[in-house]
Amino acid sequence: MKWTRRRFNPNTLRVEQVPLTRKEILRSVALRVFWVGAIGATSVWLFDRVFQSPADRARDREIAFLEDQLEGMREEVRTMEQAMEDMAQRDDAVYRVLLGVQPVPEHLRNPGIGGVDRHAALRGHVHSEEVADLKSRIASLQRSMAAQSKSLDEVTSMALEYEDRLESIPAIQPIRNDDLNRMAGGWGYRIHPIYKVRKFHYGMDFSAPEGTEIFATGDGVVVKVKRLYNGYGRHVVIRHGFGYETLYAHMSKSLVRPGDRVKRGQVIGLVGSTGTSTSSHLHYEVHKDGVKVNPAHYYFNDLSPSEYEAMLEASEGETQSLD
Ligand SMILES: [Zn+2]
Repeated sequence: MKWTRRRFNPNTLRVEQVPLTRKEILRSVALRVFWVGAIGATSVWLFDRVFQSPADRARDREIAFLEDQLEGMREEVRTMEQAMEDMAQRDDAVYRVLLGVQPVPEHLRNPGIGGVDRHAALRGHVHSEEVADLKSRIASLQRSMAAQSKSLDEVTSMALEYEDRLESIPAIQPIRNDDLNRMAGGWGYRIHPIYKVRKFHYGMDFSAPEGTEIFATGDGVVVKVKRLYNGYGRHVVIRHGFGYETLYAHMSKSLVRPGDRVKRGQVIGLVGSTGTSTSSHLHYEVHKDGVKVNPAHYYFNDLSPSEYEAMLEASEGETQSLD
């Protein structure tokens, strides 16, 4: 190719081919390179816009799929956060109140983490913000779950002990006494039936025919079965744990032996009039930490509040005990 251009010569009135100067050549080359480049780039760009390669399409589908998944996970995390909150609330408002324990302090349930940006490595991408948010919410859920799990362990062990305690504390009347008419003498000063002097009566007497069944008033272990010719006569002592013992006196017959484990409501003996007693009855005592206490306060399992009132009134009258 020859680098020339046509020029009109006014002297000869003819069009002549003249060689290009070096500068003109460079400009011409640069211009061509520019156009080739511009047209080429535009074509590639257009082609890319109109016709995607299969790989591009697959990648786009993949991104859409991941975005969809991300949205789904965000939704799931939100649900878990809600469930976690419900659980914490139930723990504080129900279990802990029921068992009489302090609520878990907020700082234990939501231990904060401060300082460093834990998601620095995630920065600089289109979805950085969302992924970082999701990650920190999951981390916070994990911490809450650990705290909640610890709290539930504590509540569970307390509930187990509580259940044990509920079953062990004397809580029913020692004989069948639905209409409360078997209550003969209660706690307090009474005229002693034999000595005829005012004496403190440390238990409660239930008058009943000989042979009436006597129930253990709480779960426990029989620690004493004894026959005396005066005082309590044939009597049984049950140790319930948690500081409680109960004593059943004047039995005609005992149906347990020392070391026996008994359940609340189990028949442990029959009513009689052995020992210092004027007629067939059961003398019942409740001991708490070695001190005799008023059994009237330990029938909460089978007395309604009004029956309890009636029973208190009946047991507090200046009646004579049967001892
Ligand atoms: Zn008595």
